[in-house]
Amino acid sequence: MPEPTRPDILIIGAGPVGLFAVFELGLFDMKCHLIDILDRPGGQCAELYPEKPIYDIPGYPLISAQGLVDRLMEQIAPFKPGFSFNRMVTGLEKLDGGGFRVTTDENEVFEAKVVVIAAGGGSFQPKRPPIPGIEAFENGSVFYSVRRMEEFRDQDVMIVGGGDSALDWTLNLQPIARSVTLVHRRPEFRAAPDSVNKMYALQEMKQLEFLVGQVTGLKGADGRLSSATVKGPDGDTEVPCTRLLPFFGLTMKLGPIAEWGLNLHENLIPVDTEKFETSVPGIFAIGDINSYPGKLKLILSGFHEAALMTQAAKRIVSPGERVVFQYTTSSTSLQKKLGVA
Ligand code: FAD
Repeated sequence: MPEPTRPDILIIGAGPVGLFAVFELGLFDMKCHLIDILDRPGGQCAELYPEKPIYDIPGYPLISAQGLVDRLMEQIAPFKPGFSFNRMVTGLEKLDGGGFRVTTDENEVFEAKVVVIAAGGGSFQPKRPPIPGIEAFENGSVFYSVRRMEEFRDQDVMIVGGGDSALDWTLNLQPIARSVTLVHRRPEFRAAPDSVNKMYALQEMKQLEFLVGQVTGLKGADGRLSSATVKGPDGDTEVPCTRLLPFFGLTMKLGPIAEWGLNLHENLIPVDTEKFETSVPGIFAIGDINSYPGKLKLILSGFHEAALMTQAAKRIVSPGERVVFQYTTSSTSLQKKLGVA
């Protein structure tokens, strides 16, 4: 087993609530590490509605969802949290001597005295496109995210989709791949116009290929792809393809949380409203993933839950130490932690 990383607090989920928990825990000197299956912080705000304005964040009459995530990242920067993105937490088990072991689908191991589940609606998981036989090539030649760019070096890469992920990876992999073919149903894209312009410029210079159409078939053997059939307005084209990256959007599934021995009710984790602790002492659940009488799935509810959870987490991380209530406006010691005193 690899040597574990040992933060005080392991937070599952880097959505707005997991991020704000870092701030509250940091004020009480607890070091956090966050794990998220997405490739960046922000959870639903970043993945589902980054440009939409939010009107009910206290103190902000209007802030875009991505703007809120950016401000949260700024706010927690003094506490230097660790992040592991593109990782799904698969295992959570109790250690004999106290605390918990958390493992990911990349076989990393974390050990922490406290685990905070801030997993929202569950893990975002990619939608599989309706291409016959695609399962046989998954993980060897077909990937739904880019975890290691080296996997794509000197390969014939085909990227399918019209959103930001498809266009970003088309541009990022083009310099290292042997060939890049972007496939989308139509010549209009949902992605940022700047990325689309860059893609068309590279196509003009014959440094990548853009095809309008749909992937209808895959060829290869032993889990290794060799080509893909693209059905376009003028018929079928056989394109060399050793790596396929379909970006067909994400769905939210509870994922492995159901297997961790916690009490669940309708795919949510019941907690008390004093500490937001689950049925397992030392494991807390905050934000959209929890349930209690009167629960509202709002960002501000999650922020409140993070503040109260912190009081209880501190008693576990530093037993016997007095938990002192202080205001950030008047406490020099808190201001020192924030780097403003
Ligand atoms: P999430 O934002 O869901 O983040 C959870 C994170 O955990 C995800 O990134 C997920 O990938 C990760 N995760 C889960 N399981 C695992 C695992 N096993 N391993 C690794 N990572 C995992 N709320 C408001 O207050 N005001 C609004 O105006 C508002 N508007 C909304 C508009 C839309 C369109 C939507 C969809 C939601 C809106 N909400 C709004 C709700 C708000 O976005 C949620 O309440 C908030 O995102 C919950 O935050 P969270 O951190 O609890 O969870």
